Amino acid sequence: MAELKQKVYFDYGATTPVSKEVFLAMQPYFSEKFGNASSIHFIGEEAAEAVQKSREQVAEYLGATFEEIIFTSGATESNNLAIKGVVKKFLEKNPAGKPHVITTKIEHHCVVDSVKSLEKEGLIEATYLGINSNGIVEPEELKFAVKKNTILISVMYVNNEIGTVQPIKEIGRLIKELNEKREQKIIFHTDAVQAVNYFDCEVKNLGVDLLSFSGHKIYGPKGVGVLYIKKGSPIARIQDGGSHEFGLRAGTLNVPGIVGVGEAIKQIQPEKEKNTEFVKKLRDRLIAGILKNVPGSYLNGPKESRSPNNANLRFDNVEGEALLYALSFEGIAVSTASACASKSLKPSHVLIALGLPPEQAHSSVRLTLGKYSTEQEVDYAIEVFPRVIEKLRQVSGNVLQERLGKREERLPEDFGC
Ligand SMILES: *Cc1c(COP(=O)(O)O)cnc(C)c1O
Repeated sequence: MAELKQKVYFDYGATTPVSKEVFLAMQPYFSEKFGNASSIHFIGEEAAEAVQKSREQVAEYLGATFEEIIFTSGATESNNLAIKGVVKKFLEKNPAGKPHVITTKIEHHCVVDSVKSLEKEGLIEATYLGINSNGIVEPEELKFAVKKNTILISVMYVNNEIGTVQPIKEIGRLIKELNEKREQKIIFHTDAVQAVNYFDCEVKNLGVDLLSFSGHKIYGPKGVGVLYIKKGSPIARIQDGGSHEFGLRAGTLNVPGIVGVGEAIKQIQPEKEKNTEFVKKLRDRLIAGILKNVPGSYLNGPKESRSPNNANLRFDNVEGEALLYALSFEGIAVSTASACASKSLKPSHVLIALGLPPEQAHSSVRLTLGKYSTEQEVDYAIEVFPRVIEKLRQVSGNVLQERLGKREERLPEDFGC
């Protein structure tokens, strides 16, 4: 790769750098304090104590108790465990039953595809709720979708592509109300990966039974995640092995990773307000600058009710992926759809759910900022975007139309990554 003069990272939604504090906290647990947290001896105990400390830090942030915190390998696993674990537990008790699960069309693939695979296996019935023109799931519509056999509702807190904030508290209250009169209680799960840095994640305020998040989106390490499981929730483990994590997640604990998540969580609360205002101001400057300087440019999704760090922009007659490559060449890192879908040719299922036609969905890029973003980075992007887009529009022209036409023919029915 050529040396870049500028390196601008606008992809915090895909992953964040590990903060210095987190890195230092993790370091001893790779070598000096290398113990297996399940070992009874003093070396193991040292690791177990560090895990316990992290568990308590995470519990405190969520307003939970430490026994309600399970460490996993990431939010993908947490979401799989939440959804498949609740369904499995139900079927263990009701082998003849066919439970109903409600989720949305804008979930991360690890949620939608978990529900889809259970549906394909014939184990569940499923409903995938759409969103309104503001990118929000309507609680009324959700209420309407509930059936007698509904056992699980999974709605993400903040969407990873367009940053829309879902009415989790309202949905939590609604489910609580419904549950008071129901024989079959509904479990409420939320994927809070993109919410943890900026929004209230106290589980009691949200009214959730299960909540997932990931280390590497909060300035912690990759390969470690959390699942909050409200005490007494009916959930079975989906991976066999040892009795780690209260019997719910077999496998040797990733001690340095877990220590990193604890430290990352510890850092959020004291700087939350400051970071929220900081990224929002930069993000608004970025959106305003690009929309002003680039003709035929639009913001996908609403201006308000979106995560303070997210901008999802669309450009007439520009292919999102071509733009991504061109920006990368100029030292600006952005993404199309979510990172995992970037390598596929499918349009973003979220932008489609928002009502964009495929060619417009393909003309969009996501910019996500973070606490290390700078005004200088924003201004550099505001300067580069018009130039790059003009060039792309010149070279592409008819070629683009032709390619988009071909693509549409290839569009698959279902989405996946
Ligand atoms: C990144 C992300 C995930 C997946 O998390 P991993 O820890 O990378 O598995 C799930 N949901 C959302 C909303 C995300 O942004």
